[in-house]
Amino acid sequence: MARWAIIGSGLAGVTLASRLAPFHEVVVFEKSHGSAGRMSTRRRSVDDQDFAFDHGAQYFTIKGSGFQAAIQPYLDQGVVQPWAARFITLHGDGSSEDRPLPSPVYVACPSMTALVKAMAEGLTIHHQVEIKRLDRGDHGWQLTDQHGEIHGGFDGVVTAIPAPQASNLLPMAATDLAPVKMLGCFTLMLGFEDDSVLPPDWQAARVEDSPIGFIAVNSSKPGRNSGASLVVQANNDWADPRVDDDPEAIEAILRGELHRLTGIDADVACLSSFHRWRYGATRTPLGQPFWRSPEGDLAAIGDWCIKGRVEAAFESGKALAEAILKG
Ligand SMILES: Cc1cc2nc3c(=O)[nH]c(=O)nc-3n(C[C@H](O)[C@H](O)[C@H](O)COP(=O)(O)OP(=O)(O)OC[C@H]3O[C@@H](n4cnc5c(N)ncnc54)[C@H](O)[C@@H]3O)c2cc1C
Repeated sequence: MARWAIIGSGLAGVTLASRLAPFHEVVVFEKSHGSAGRMSTRRRSVDDQDFAFDHGAQYFTIKGSGFQAAIQPYLDQGVVQPWAARFITLHGDGSSEDRPLPSPVYVACPSMTALVKAMAEGLTIHHQVEIKRLDRGDHGWQLTDQHGEIHGGFDGVVTAIPAPQASNLLPMAATDLAPVKMLGCFTLMLGFEDDSVLPPDWQAARVEDSPIGFIAVNSSKPGRNSGASLVVQANNDWADPRVDDDPEAIEAILRGELHRLTGIDADVACLSSFHRWRYGATRTPLGQPFWRSPEGDLAAIGDWCIKGRVEAAFESGKALAEAILKG
């Protein structure tokens, strides 16, 4: 039995941790107060009305048999449910057409965080611990957190965080990870007093030729019992060069664009929130399911190894677990 540290409790980190835990001692470190990473949900209340916005991943598909098998128990429990949304393509000139999907799309319920939270049950996860440094000590790898506290005695360490952040913690991986390109994103979240403002005949729009990339009627997802809500994601190519711009200016552009394309006036929202993702999407993946040092004691996983999708995060964690367990 070895002692592994995993940095990051998004889907990749939790998939790895849950597969290693029956055979090894596993400790997960997570900088946020909760697990789920980019499959996250922001909760806000106004005038006694609760709102929840899935502000990262909007939905996911299930393509491979490994992911299907892993998700099946959560489908059986209702933690994952199909989202029977009508998808449209919305063009920059305001025209639109149906966008039939080739396969069903799924969401976690009652919010997107629920899947990772369910998978993380029973794992040892230290939240609000941001790992800043790794060093090899006399008794294995030691991790230094944001308070200077040292967590030591690990035989192996795996980062399950975006590639540029992994390169900072694992300088020995930086050259191999350099070709990976991740793109920024912005998310505008709007809550309304009732659903009269929401689009009456579609629930998800892929937007083309606009600073907006995607619009979801978040409250139309199954199992949501919070207020009428809309999530507006920026187009990654538009957002990435603007990731350090003034957030208020970016938000104003997205609000104006929403109005121009759909007629929805963001000013009538009773709640408005905004989020910047420095590393949201993956443009150029690593092209292999994980990075591992020649000695095998350091590794990096994440969606960016394969593709910027939920299923890829799972596949990356699963692939490294299999390699470690093979010995
Ligand atoms: C805006 C947006 C929309 C998206 N839409 C979709 C979609 O519709 N469908 C889809 O399939 N995918 C979508 N994705 C992608 C999907 O969210 C990701 O593929 C997936 O969640 C990545 O999981 P991960 O475990 O690899 O990384 P993450 O979820 O990023 O997990 C990394 C974790 O590490 C933690 N962390 C980082 N640094 C440290 C540190 N130093 N110490 C401790 N903890 C640390 C973070 O807090 C985070 O919890 C979207 C992503 C974004 C941002």
